Amino acid sequence: MDKATHLRNYAIYLKFVQGELDKLFDKQKEYLCCDKGCGKCCKGGQFHYSEIEMMYLLTGYMKLDSEKQALIDERIKKILEDKKNFKGETFKYDCPFLIDEACCVYEYRGVICRSFGLMIQDPTGKINVPFCAYEGLSYSKVLDTETNEIDEEKVKQGNYKEKPLGFNAGYNYLTSEEYSKGFDVEFKNKKPMIEWYMVE
Ligand code: SF4
Ligand code: SF4
Repeated sequence: MDKATHLRNYAIYLKFVQGELDKLFDKQKEYLCCDKGCGKCCKGGQFHYSEIEMMYLLTGYMKLDSEKQALIDERIKKILEDKKNFKGETFKYDCPFLIDEACCVYEYRGVICRSFGLMIQDPTGKINVPFCAYEGLSYSKVLDTETNEIDEEKVKQGNYKEKPLGFNAGYNYLTSEEYSKGFDVEFKNKKPMIEWYMVE
């Protein structure tokens, strides 16, 4: 498949995913704190991207003004240097596309950036709450931080309209062959965003 066709297919798939995620976010809006200006989940992470997601993200980068591009280039260079000197197990960094606490390539961001914030139910049935629940943000009002589970009592007392739910909307599922069937998009290799900038 040529690159242009692949990007076109991906854009169609992304529109579909966004529509589905919007419904889930809407269902859980009483519990969410994802206001503009909260860039916490764009910091200190790995941000897994596949090649097609990265290509699309770079389409957004190409539309930025040269000042922003230069800032991002500089940040990427610095992150790569830090990575080279890093001795621990999991290298984490702030996303270079976060400028003034907002994503400067918002329309082009990848799937992980779109699904983050929801509670995710993994294939074993375990429900994972977003890290920010422990920092007074999404789901924090109904979370029992000792058991790491939703506190039904707090939900009852809060008079919420909807239940707090865990969805099968994790990054790996949304970018699986099963989920993306029919869109003709190849995700293949997924790795931390910064690794796409590493010269082999
Ligand atoms: S998921 Fe959490 S950290 Fe991210 S924008 Fe929403 S409230 Fe902020
Ligand atoms: S691409 Fe945008 S949404 Fe995704 S981590 Fe970076 S700044 Fe955040």
